[in-house]
Amino acid sequence: MEKQLLEGEMMEQEIRIKYPIAQPTLTELERRNLMEAFDSGWISSKGQYISKFEEEFSAYIGAEYGISCTNGTAALHLALLALGIGKGDEVIIPNITFVSPANAVLYTGAKPTLVDVDEQYWGLDPNRIEEKITSHTKAIIVVHLYGHPCDMDPIRKVAENNGLFIIEDCAEAHGAEYKGKKVGTFGDVSIFSFYANKIITTGEGGMLITNEEHIDSISRVLRDHGMSPNKKYWHDIIGYNYRMTNLQAAIGLAQLRNINSYIKAKRRIAKYYSRNLTKAFSIQPEMQWAKNIYWLTTILNFKLSNYSSRDNFINELLKNGVEARPVFYPLNQMPPYRNSGKFPNSVRISQIGLNLPSSPSLTERDLEAICYTLVEITE
Ligand SMILES: *Cc1c(COP(=O)(O)O)cnc(C)c1O
Repeated sequence: MEKQLLEGEMMEQEIRIKYPIAQPTLTELERRNLMEAFDSGWISSKGQYISKFEEEFSAYIGAEYGISCTNGTAALHLALLALGIGKGDEVIIPNITFVSPANAVLYTGAKPTLVDVDEQYWGLDPNRIEEKITSHTKAIIVVHLYGHPCDMDPIRKVAENNGLFIIEDCAEAHGAEYKGKKVGTFGDVSIFSFYANKIITTGEGGMLITNEEHIDSISRVLRDHGMSPNKKYWHDIIGYNYRMTNLQAAIGLAQLRNINSYIKAKRRIAKYYSRNLTKAFSIQPEMQWAKNIYWLTTILNFKLSNYSSRDNFINELLKNGVEARPVFYPLNQMPPYRNSGKFPNSVRISQIGLNLPSSPSLTERDLEAICYTLVEITE
């Protein structure tokens, strides 16, 4: 019997990954900005690039305020704290997501309440939120999964009817649109991540985006040790050190110059997959009200039926130099996030879903080779 290999073991066997999942595009401009920041001596969290990056990124999203920080998870933590969420509170989150929102809720002492996702586009299902609301529920975190926006109108209605805050997790959706407007301004506050494989990167990094002046000011205090802005070394609240460095912001500013070309490339890649894969696969769609920026083109493989067949499929792809990743596991299946309830859509999407190589640098020839491998291994 063939031994099943894990991703890491495969790497040790020096199987060359020819088509990685998502690599950043770093140009001469990033290098120049970074060296300028370096040469200025402002290598820590003061320096001109930080406020520039905050201003330009928030303007790109179409919001008043941007507060940079160390990473997307820290941004989520700050967003929850800024809204006053803590012990005894409950926060609605989707059952399929990267783990950050669940962890951030737990950092505050609040409890994540899991809700199943829509079977078509895999975002938080607006019709399943209300049944999970209790007198302790304070907020909804929506996650625009893999670049596809959530259906914000009905979600906003539920939030309004029940007096709940909305936090948008846009870590995978820089530039995605809901009804013609960029995500990031449909709630009280939103967060972005600039991890290396996201749409734009600062190495590690994150940002809160908001139109609310008080959220802006309190998150600035919280990210800077809780220090009073008017009285140095005076602390009225407990804070954190969640500051971004000038070096990171310098890279981010350069990345922002090219964000539209990255989005265009991601959409071109998704289109290629959707035209060239067989009926055994279906790609995450783009609903008529949405602009999906296809951070990672993600497919369901209908020939798969469970986690082990999926893992075998991923290993077969890897042997051919194609790196694919499994869709996130449903949170309710993992020990720290166990929740009651049934989540049929999450389970199915997670069992047969995978992310495909989606780097902006992929050429038609690369994509042709990847599709060929996918189809061949499936048959
Ligand atoms: C990447 C990501 C984050 C945060 O990522 P960091 O690595 O902390 O910057 C949060 N939510 C989602 C959905 C993500 O994909």
